Amino acid sequence: MTDIDGKALAAKLQGQLAEKTARLKAETGMVPGLVVILVGEDPASQVYVRNKERSALAAGFKSEVVRVPETITQEELLTLISKYNQDADWHGILVQLPLPAHINEEKILLAIDPAKDVDGFHPTNMGKLWSGHPVMIPSTPAGIMEMFKEYKIDLAGKNAVVIGRSNIVGKPMAQMLLDANATVTIAHSRTKDLPALARQADVLVVAIGRGHFVTKDFVKPGAVVIDVGMNRDENGKLIGDVAYEEVAEVASYITPVPGGVGPMTITMLMEQTYNACLLAGVADGQD
Ligand code: NAP
Repeated sequence: MTDIDGKALAAKLQGQLAEKTARLKAETGMVPGLVVILVGEDPASQVYVRNKERSALAAGFKSEVVRVPETITQEELLTLISKYNQDADWHGILVQLPLPAHINEEKILLAIDPAKDVDGFHPTNMGKLWSGHPVMIPSTPAGIMEMFKEYKIDLAGKNAVVIGRSNIVGKPMAQMLLDANATVTIAHSRTKDLPALARQADVLVVAIGRGHFVTKDFVKPGAVVIDVGMNRDENGKLIGDVAYEEVAEVASYITPVPGGVGPMTITMLMEQTYNACLLAGVADGQD
């Protein structure tokens, strides 16, 4: 069994990104800019936003975190987004989720210019992904695809089962696996006899949000197991959706938690911001 080391891969990609950014700046004067809007003071969101800012600065980007109070109105938030949509210095705009209940999340995501939607959550970007022309793609599944590439895991003709059908992980993951010529099944909470279905997978991606839910019984010997889950156990320890110890006995490759999928997500977000900057440069040249 081989552990897929997301932490090491993320560090390597982050280093390459810093080099690419320095070159871009030297050759064109362009600097990727990422603005993160944080509404309210949710402790987990604050940690995520801090990590994104740190990663953007490490890559040599221009970075700004706009912290607004939880009492901001939807109209005020839309105006703020519109301001950054129009400002050519910012190539990526990210609104940290979740948002307070009085703000309609869908309206907010729709307001972000799809060319600056580095999260890849805008319906235009989702549609492009599903129609086989991806531009901005969600970072978590994008990071998983990078892991397959790094570890030379060939997906063509493989049976892939994705457990979880969220817009941010399960659905885009399924589409990316399909694009890589895997035969894909998406499972969810209404799936019948999930362990038997999962046992057919050569590649099993688990994104459900239930600590240690997937046991050895779900895994075909030799399967590749990707654990997206981030849950806290009764002692507050970070654990995945997969019971790592027992599944590692049968899997060929497995991602640990922590140190697997998690670190890749932020790195891919930075890659997307860099790409958005390049695309903006190309668009400028066409004016
Ligand atoms: P989500 O929106 O809550 O979706 C969970 C999905 O799992 C749903 O499709 C749900 O099915 C399915 N599910 C729930 N219980 C199930 C069960 N018993 N059997 C089969 N399917 C079940 O979650 P998410 O946003 O995709 O996140 C999933 C997990 O990944 C969470 O632990 C989250 O913290 C983690 N995550 C990690 C990263 C990272 O960077 N590492 C990024 C994003 C998310 P239904 O649709 O039928 O309800």
